[in-house]
Amino acid sequence: MKIFCIGRNYIDHAKELNNPVPSAPIIFMKPPTALVVNDKPFFYPDFTQDIHHEGEIVLRVCKNGRSVEPQFASRYYDAVAFGIDFTARDLQAKLKEKGHPWEIAKGFDRSAPLSKWMPLADLPNPQDIHFQLKKNGEVVQDGHTRDLIFPFDTLIVHLSRYFTLQRGDMIFTGTPAGVGPVQIGDVLEGWIEGKHLLTCAVK
Ligand code: ZN
Repeated sequence: MKIFCIGRNYIDHAKELNNPVPSAPIIFMKPPTALVVNDKPFFYPDFTQDIHHEGEIVLRVCKNGRSVEPQFASRYYDAVAFGIDFTARDLQAKLKEKGHPWEIAKGFDRSAPLSKWMPLADLPNPQDIHFQLKKNGEVVQDGHTRDLIFPFDTLIVHLSRYFTLQRGDMIFTGTPAGVGPVQIGDVLEGWIEGKHLLTCAVK
């Protein structure tokens, strides 16, 4: 099982970190040991002082495929979940400066809390999903997937040129503006279309 993540896929988020808007999807991966399921807590790691939350819509791949044609792309995913792409922003900044890969800043243990899946068929409009991340009860990130720079189908086409997609793979599709630090004691919640899907306590 592979966990793909897309960087800077919302213009407002690229701007808040002073990054240029990309001309092709920025791809990185997290290992399966990054996943946290069943609302288990997130333990603040000792190698960073600046963990940020990135609330994201996660796509579930439901079919194996490679070099998928655009007209068939929508057949390759069948559900979404709320995911948090926890990022050690201080480590990431140092790695970016040197032009090094981001892996340790993004793929460390427990860096990817994931809610249960919501079938696409249960959503009012799978092409425009509204989602929110709350921190201690307050909305800190509010996104609509209609604002994705590279929408779901484009991600499937692009990823499958390089990596064989396999049933069970997942794609963290990117975070909207409003990323920010978390502290021990914070409680994060993920909401999709007004449904509370994820709770993640920072310990
Ligand atoms: Zn992210």
